[in-house]
Amino acid sequence: MLNRNCNRENDVLRAVASAYIDDDIRSHIASCASCADLLAVASAVADDRRTLIREATIPSSGLVWWRANMRARQQARRVVVRTATLIQIALIALAIVVAIVVLGATPPPIDYRPLLTIPVFAFVAWLILAPVAVYFTVTED
Ligand SMILES: [Zn+2]
Repeated sequence: MLNRNCNRENDVLRAVASAYIDDDIRSHIASCASCADLLAVASAVADDRRTLIREATIPSSGLVWWRANMRARQQARRVVVRTATLIQIALIALAIVVAIVVLGATPPPIDYRPLLTIPVFAFVAWLILAPVAVYFTVTED
């Protein structure tokens, strides 16, 4: 069983990351099986990383700009669709309330005024402010 808790492992990893192994660490690796295994694995990972960095293709600036522009447009579209959906739901609810009122449904004889004051005010304010919010969302560049 190998000693998996050598206190020089960080030095080995640092040396592999910097691609320079000094004589002190090299002599330790020769005498420590755990660090020798760590060196083999870390070197393979570091070589793979360097190869991937060397072979990576950098997209053109136009492609990067186009992707960023498309991502921004899609994000703006999602916000607008979400807001429009909420407005549609509110309008459908309002249409149902208006239909009930027009058809002449009579509410039970309870005094609703204290209960309806703040919710009605909030609903009316939302009905007024929602189109403004949609306007600023759509015209945002
Ligand atoms: Zn060691």
